[in-house]
Amino acid sequence: MVGSEIRPCDHPKKDVRRVLEKWAARGWVLRKDGHWGRLYCPCEGRCTVIPVAGTPRNPSAHARVIDRMAARCPLPGEAPNRSLTGMPRAEA
Ligand SMILES: [Zn+2]
Repeated sequence: MVGSEIRPCDHPKKDVRRVLEKWAARGWVLRKDGHWGRLYCPCEGRCTVIPVAGTPRNPSAHARVIDRMAARCPLPGEAPNRSLTGMPRAEA
């Protein structure tokens, strides 16, 4: 089972919080898991799940990794060559 939903603003590091807020605004969901949480992409296939550390040794580097991994998910409305898993979810 995945953990309960958490919010980007719960993250202790500013750099990571900013990236989480950016992707949460695009429909990504954060759940409590692992060392702090996991970020789930909004598409039907849930193609991308990103582990989020609560106390990364280098917060800005960790934020960049999250940002780069998140960009792999084929978000609806972007990237015309997005994969078939990139369908928008019906729920908000
Ligand atoms: Zn995805």
